[in-house]
Amino acid sequence: MALPIVAIIGRPNVGKSTLVNRFAGVTDSIVHDEPGVTRDRTYRRAFWQDREFMVVDTGGLVFDDDTEFLPYIREQAMAALSEARAAIFVADGQMGPTEADHAIATWLRQHPLPVFLAINKCESPEQGVTQAAQFWELGLGEPYPVSGIHGNGTGDLLDALIQHLPPISEIEETPETRVAIVGRPNVGKSSLLNAFVGENRAIVSPVSGTTRDAIDMLVERGDKTYRLIDTAGIRKKKNVDYGPEFFGINRSFKAIRRADVVLLVIDAVDGVTEQDQKLAGRIADEGRACVVVVNKWDAVEKDSYTIYDFERMVRDRLYFVNWADMIFTSALTGQRVPKIFDLVDAAAEQNQRRVSTSVINEVLEDALRWQSPPATRQGKQGRIYYGTQVQSKPPTITLFVNNPALFKENYRRYIERQFRQSLGFSGTPIRLIWRGKKSRELERDNPNRATRV
Ligand code: GDP
Ligand code: GDP
Repeated sequence: MALPIVAIIGRPNVGKSTLVNRFAGVTDSIVHDEPGVTRDRTYRRAFWQDREFMVVDTGGLVFDDDTEFLPYIREQAMAALSEARAAIFVADGQMGPTEADHAIATWLRQHPLPVFLAINKCESPEQGVTQAAQFWELGLGEPYPVSGIHGNGTGDLLDALIQHLPPISEIEETPETRVAIVGRPNVGKSSLLNAFVGENRAIVSPVSGTTRDAIDMLVERGDKTYRLIDTAGIRKKKNVDYGPEFFGINRSFKAIRRADVVLLVIDAVDGVTEQDQKLAGRIADEGRACVVVVNKWDAVEKDSYTIYDFERMVRDRLYFVNWADMIFTSALTGQRVPKIFDLVDAAAEQNQRRVSTSVINEVLEDALRWQSPPATRQGKQGRIYYGTQVQSKPPTITLFVNNPALFKENYRRYIERQFRQSLGFSGTPIRLIWRGKKSRELERDNPNRATRV
């Protein structure tokens, strides 16, 4: 996802975050009590007419102040400018141009970026024009009177801005992978989240249609984008004792439902608990891909065999997702944390994989040759006529048979194992639908009623 970036620059308190929220259509603006001081760069998605872009609030730029954060703030602003396509310089119309505004203007003129001058707090249309006109002296071209609070003037500003941005049709959008991080409290979910976000570019993105506090985070890594689902459910207040009742299993279930790939985080010290098993069961039921992250691996005493024993033990206890890849990490030291995304990519790919009917039937023929379906005492024999993949996410294969009742659990598992051995599907659940003749007739009568047997 390579949306163009627009940097918002200006002194503290001129209304930058108010404007960012307006551009991004966010109504519940985040209020900062300490303007510009402790703020990290936040990216928000915005669009105007046929252009889509990211606005990044750089934090307040201060030149005339000896605050201890000054180098940090400037570094943030520099970083934001270096990746931006255009900048919006926000100033306070009610205050008029200040020395600091001049300093910022001088600084901005050294950058080859197109700069748009937003003179904020110009609620009154008549006064606004006069207020804005004073800013011609900054030498940055036409000042646009706007009001971040009321919204007036922002349309003209954005009209001018988007002339410098590529239209959506020219932006190559790679689909994002939706990732949920779930696990018991204290297993290291938020530590892992911070470790990802630390080394990749993160964008906070409010999602419409979900609860207000379900905040997703977009993380870019190479040419891939990951949507980390409901990061608000991961981050937590410090100094709160989270007992089991704070586990928030429903919240985890919701996150699993929205995900393509679920990171199930296990505490290496505690091992697999009943709650972990519950989550694993839900992941499999929902048909989601899964990576099992055994975290706090640094805290485990190990010899060269431990990792294998441990893996066997975890796989055994997490039998619902025994097809999942497993990785042993330390959020504390960062060990193998970047590799988690490689496994996420692989699992997502398998989850949406499609296999041709001819390949499926080759596997079936082979499987039947090795082991034919057992016959009942009455001599009835199960027959598989053919199979075909009817769906992906997760891969779902319908097997057309004479009578599903003739295929017991053992044999069904054998067939699934054969598919996995021949076709892979590592990291994703697969589904087999055993469909008998009767249900096929039913389907012919009423094609909407696909019977699952
Ligand atoms: P930032 O530090 O530049 O991000 O500024 P904020 O967006 O946090 O706004 C600073 C203050 O200016 C807040 O008290 C806002 O309510 C106020 N403010 C922001 N936009 C406007 C506006 O358009 N008109 C008026 N009158 N006040 C505004
Ligand atoms: P969450 O509740 O799952 O989000 O867990 P946190 O990320 O808040 O971590 C809980 C505690 O475990 C904190 O004290 C972390 O410092 C610690 N922790 C997290 N990851 C690791 C790790 O990889 N190794 C060790 N030794 N401690 C960790």
